[in-house]
Amino acid sequence: MSRVTKLLLVEDNQGDAGLVRAALGEISTPDDEFQSVHAVRLGQAFEYAAETSFDLILLDLSLPDAKGLDTVTRMTAAAPSVPIVVMTGMNDQSVAIEAMRMGAQDYLVKGQVDEAMLGRTIRYAIERKKAEAEINRQLERQKVLNDINRAIASTLDLESVINILLEKVGRVFPQFGSMVHLLSPQKDVLEALAFRNLDAGSWQQTVPGENKGFNYIAAHLKTPLIINDAQNDPRSRRPEFLRRNDFVCYLGLPLIVNDEAVGVLALFAKENDAFADVDIQFLSTLAGQAALAIHNSRLFQGIKVATERQGALYEINLALTSSLELRSILNTLLAKIDHLFPNFAVSIRLYNGSSRTWEGVACSNMDEADWRTAASKSGSGITQAVVDAGGPLVIPDTQLDPRTHDRDFQRRNGLVSYLGVPLIVKYEIFGVIGFFSKVRHEFSPQEVELLSTLASQAAIAIHNAQLYDRLKRANETLEQTLEVKSILTGVMAHELKTPIQVIMGTASLLAEGMCGELNQEQRERIGKIEAGSEEMLQLIESSLDMARLEQGKMPLLVTEIRVRELLAELESEFSETFAKKGLALEVNHPPLGSTIKSDRVKLKEILRNIIDNARKYTVQGKVSLEFAVKDAERVEFVVKDTGIGIKAELLPKIFELFYQVDPSQKEHASAGLGLNIVKRLVDAMSGEIDVTSEVGRGSVFRVTFPREISTHLPQ
Ligand code: ADP
Repeated sequence: MSRVTKLLLVEDNQGDAGLVRAALGEISTPDDEFQSVHAVRLGQAFEYAAETSFDLILLDLSLPDAKGLDTVTRMTAAAPSVPIVVMTGMNDQSVAIEAMRMGAQDYLVKGQVDEAMLGRTIRYAIERKKAEAEINRQLERQKVLNDINRAIASTLDLESVINILLEKVGRVFPQFGSMVHLLSPQKDVLEALAFRNLDAGSWQQTVPGENKGFNYIAAHLKTPLIINDAQNDPRSRRPEFLRRNDFVCYLGLPLIVNDEAVGVLALFAKENDAFADVDIQFLSTLAGQAALAIHNSRLFQGIKVATERQGALYEINLALTSSLELRSILNTLLAKIDHLFPNFAVSIRLYNGSSRTWEGVACSNMDEADWRTAASKSGSGITQAVVDAGGPLVIPDTQLDPRTHDRDFQRRNGLVSYLGVPLIVKYEIFGVIGFFSKVRHEFSPQEVELLSTLASQAAIAIHNAQLYDRLKRANETLEQTLEVKSILTGVMAHELKTPIQVIMGTASLLAEGMCGELNQEQRERIGKIEAGSEEMLQLIESSLDMARLEQGKMPLLVTEIRVRELLAELESEFSETFAKKGLALEVNHPPLGSTIKSDRVKLKEILRNIIDNARKYTVQGKVSLEFAVKDAERVEFVVKDTGIGIKAELLPKIFELFYQVDPSQKEHASAGLGLNIVKRLVDAMSGEIDVTSEVGRGSVFRVTFPREISTHLPQ
C-alpha cells in the first residue's frame, strides 16, 4: 500500500527551501511519497495548516513575521497535533535544543542535511509525536478511570453512579451517544435508566416481546458486542431510534459483577467500525467499575429497604393494636400496605360462619364495587386455594390460573400475580389477605416473609376486634334485657299497689266495725290481713324504688332539713310496730336548730330501711337512733340494735342485691332489696355507709353525709 506523507515547509529563504524540496524529491518513491506545501511566512503557514492536515511541519526559525523560539510557540499553538522539526543555521544549535524543549520533535542544521538524514528525521519525528499523543491519551484515560473510581466510591445512590458513568464516557467520547440499561433481578427485563448525547424519544418504554434486542444479547453474552450497519440488523428492537439519530454502529458493554450481568452500557456511533480495540478495552474497564458500584448501591438499597420495612412492620403493629374497631383496623391496614407496596392491589376476606363463605370485607387499588359483585358471584377460588394450602400461596398469573373463578374480573382490574396469606389465630384460619401485582411479579422469599409477618399481626388485631365486637353486641343485648326487666318490675309493682291498697282499706273498714261488730277471733284474723298487706306494700315500694334507681329516674331534690323534725317523724311512724314487737325505739333528739341540706325523701327512706331492719333482726332489747355532727363538713346518723348481729365475713355481702344472710329464718316478707337500695341512695347523696356487728349482741349502722349536697343526677 502506498503511503503519502504531507509536509508543510515554512521557509523564507528560497534557496534553502529549494534544497529541502529537492532532497524530498530524491527520497520519494511511488510507494512512499513525500509531498510538501511551501509557506514563506508564519501567517501563511497558519492558513495552510488550517486548511490541510499535515503529517509534519518543517519550520525555519527566522521568518519575516516571526523570529527564534516565538516561531515554535506560535506554530505549536496553531497546530498542536502536528509534529514540528525546526531548521536552524549552523550557529543556532542551542536555540534548536531549546525549541525541542518547547514541543518541537527534532531539528535540522541547514547546509548539513543529506537526503537519508532528512527522511529519517521526518519519520522519527512523526512516530515520536504519535507515541507522545498515545501516552497523553493513556494518561488522560487513566485520569478518567481514577476520577470515576473516586466519584463512584463517594455515592451509594444508583442514579448518581449511572450519571457519573455517562458523564465520563461523554467526556472521553463526545462523538458517541450512550445509554445505560439495568437488568431486573429476574434477568428478564432490561430497564432503560439514563442516556446522553442522543434523541431518545420514548426511550424508557420497555417493549416486551420475542425480539430481545442488542442490549439483551450483550447482557446475556457477557462480552462486548459490536454491530455495524445496526439500522438494518434484524436483531434491532428499535431501528427507528437508530435512524432518527443516524446511528449505524452499536457497541454494547455488559456491566458484570461476580460473573453476572447487572446491565448494559450501550454506545452508538454515526459511522461503522467506530470503536477501536483500545477504546473498547478502556470502556470495559469503566463498565466494570460502574457495575461494581451499581451492585453496591443495589445491596445498600436492599438493606435500606429491609430496614425500612422492619420499621414499617413495627408501625403497623402499633397502629393496628391502637384500635378495637374492625373498620378502622382494616382501613389502617390497607393504608399501611399501600404505603409499603404502592403497586399492589389488596383484598381482605374473612370467614362468615353463618353464610359459610369467605366474605370480602375490604380492598384497595381495585374497583371496589366490581370486586364486591365479582366476589359474591364467583365464590372465592383462589382464597379457598390459600386456605387449602394452609400457608402463603403464590399464583404467577391469576388471569390464566384455573383456580381463579372470575378471570374477567382479574383482567378488568389488571391484576396479574398473586400472593395470598392466611389470617391465623390459634391454629385456625379465619381470613385471607390477597396481594395482587399489576404487572407480572415474582414474589421474593423476603417479600413473602414480610407480608406473612404483616398478616399475622393483622390477624391478631382483626381477631381482637371481632371478639370485642361480639362482646359489645352481647352486652348491648344484655343491657336491653335488663332494662325491659326493670321496666316490667316497675309496672308490675305499680299495678299491684292498687289492689293491695283496696285490701288494706277494706280490712281497716272491717276492723273498725263499719260492717258490723267483730268477735275477738275475727279481729285477730283481720289484723293479720292488715299486717300482711302492709309488708306486701313495703316490698312493692322497695321494688318500685329499685326500678326507679335502675332507670336513673331518681334525681336529687335538695332542701333544708330540720333534723329534729325528721327524727321525730320516724319515731312516730315506727312507734306502733316497735310496740307490737315489745321493742324500745330510742331516738336521741338533736338540738332544735340542727339542719342539713339534702334530699329529705331519700334520707328518710335510707333511715326507714335501716331502722326497720334493726327491728326485724332484733328479738329483744332496743334500737337507738342518733344524729351527730362529725366535723365542719360532715354529719352522721347512727342506728344501733341489740339484735342477732351479722357474721364479720358476711358484712360486705349484705349490700348486694337480693342478698339475705339466712333466708330460711325469714320471719317477715323480705327480698334482700332494702340494703342495696340504701347503698345506692347513700352513694347518690355522696354519703358513706359503714356497719359493725357482733353475732348475738347487735349491729351498728353508721351513715355519713356531707352537711350540704348539691343537686345533681345520681350516677
Ligand atoms: P332483707 O329484705 O332480707 O332485710 P336487706 O337488704 O335489708 O334485705 O338486708 C340484707 C340482709 O342483711 C338481711 O337479710 C339480714 O340477714 C341482714 N341484716 C340487715 N340488717 C340487719 C341487722 N340490723 N341485724 C342483723 N342482720 C341484718
